[in-house]
Amino acid sequence: MPLQPMTGGEDQALLLGRGDAGDGAAEFCPGRRRATAHLDEHGRGAVAADQVDFAALDAEIALQQLEAVGEQMPGGGIFAGRAGCLALGHRGAHGVAHCSIMAGMTQTTKNALAIVATPIGNLGDITLRALEILRQADTIACEDTRHARRLLDHHDIRASLLAVHEHNEQAAAARLIELLAAGKRVALISDAGTPGVSDPGARTVAAVRAAGHAVTPLPGPNAAIAALCVAGLDTPAFHFVGFLPAKLGARRTAIEGVKGIAATLVFYEAPHRIEETVADLAALLEPEREIVVARELTKLFEEIVRLPLPEALAWLAADANRRRGEFVLLVSAPPPRVGLDAECERVLKLLLAELPVRQAAKLASEITGAAKNELYRRALELKEL
Ligand code: SAM
Repeated sequence: MPLQPMTGGEDQALLLGRGDAGDGAAEFCPGRRRATAHLDEHGRGAVAADQVDFAALDAEIALQQLEAVGEQMPGGGIFAGRAGCLALGHRGAHGVAHCSIMAGMTQTTKNALAIVATPIGNLGDITLRALEILRQADTIACEDTRHARRLLDHHDIRASLLAVHEHNEQAAAARLIELLAAGKRVALISDAGTPGVSDPGARTVAAVRAAGHAVTPLPGPNAAIAALCVAGLDTPAFHFVGFLPAKLGARRTAIEGVKGIAATLVFYEAPHRIEETVADLAALLEPEREIVVARELTKLFEEIVRLPLPEALAWLAADANRRRGEFVLLVSAPPPRVGLDAECERVLKLLLAELPVRQAAKLASEITGAAKNELYRRALELKEL
């Protein structure tokens, strides 16, 4: 099957990779609590002819939703003792949309820890609600304070920062609990995307909940979901693996462990390991499977290709640029099984020689992972031979 290039974007505005902050063009007006989306004559957001103003589009989409619903509570209720928010949208006379957020009251009595998703590349990919909550926060817990500061400076957010990473998560969680107990407004972000998804956060969340505080999500960007939505792989289920182990043996065992799952497999990978991971996937998984390589999503050199798994390594090798950046790998579900494979058949025959049909099928299923009813049907056939 020939290579199918699906997208290649070199025209996005507003980029923030790990270390590549870009200029913001949309007018999220910090302090003034107003988001302004500039619209072209078709009513779409626009920066320049070849650029897409993602932040303004965010504002416009949110505005349309607000207009439809009539009223929303973008940040209300998360931080106690603080005005909640009522947002109203209206469109100006010259195609300029305004989204004004006004104070209302909340009923909440205890602060919740807000888990806030942030962009995975394009700085415009942050929700109105995330901005509102980050602006209200007294303390923002983050992985890397310098990295967080770039995003927060872009939105003129001045909260104090507290580093939470895998080496200090327990102590940092204790500090966050103290802050919450003192009535402070606390949010948690990671370097990119959704905290707790292949990022620190889970232990903090568990500790904060155990201490009796609520934890509330502000959903947003996530690399796995971004890749899945453009992959076009038609499976009703996906299995998120995240990063495979770095060591060869453990990595191969992990791949064998997910091989039989009837779902699209989702992997995260870094550039220095992309070739060996793809080589192992191709060596251990069925050649009928397809792979989607989603690289640098939402960034300047975004690239999404779908190709047969056995061709993936050659594709990567053909151009050094294809091995750069951040990767999500999606592997299509295994091909449907036609009967039992040779190993299942061998195990079943051995067990049948010693055990009744039902027991042999049950044990064979536990040993091989094959479906019990399929093994039972085959065991009956073998008994009749
Ligand atoms: N918490 C993040 C999320 O919600 O997706 C994931 C953080 S994890 C430390 C970083 C990995 O996510 C990268 O190595 C890559 O596999 C994937 N990733 C993050 N941003 C990406 C992007 N813009 N394009 C492709 N993959 C990305």
